Amino acid sequence: MSNDDEENSHLGVIDPEACIRCERKPCISKCPAEVYRWLENEQELEIAYENCLECGTCRVVCPYDNFEWEYPRGGFGVAYKFG
Ligand code: SF4
Ligand code: SF4
Repeated sequence: MSNDDEENSHLGVIDPEACIRCERKPCISKCPAEVYRWLENEQELEIAYENCLECGTCRVVCPYDNFEWEYPRGGFGVAYKFG
């Protein structure tokens, strides 16, 4: 992961294997900003951090409690203003 990625990302999954086991992947359907997409070939969750609205829904609906949030320096409101 590059430095750029680290600066821009504030959402991540703790255990990618859990996402493979996760049957309905509720984070994908419940996120209002379509941040998540399942990559079938890679068998991994794609996370479009820059779209995130900080609503917190994904953390609530994940059956594996699989999200970790890294709070960007300076707090919310600026880190996803690009793109
Ligand atoms: S709901 Fe949780 S475990 Fe399921 S795909 Fe999303 S992040 Fe992974
Ligand atoms: S906090 Fe809300 S907008 Fe951001 S990824 Fe989670 S469900 Fe989507």
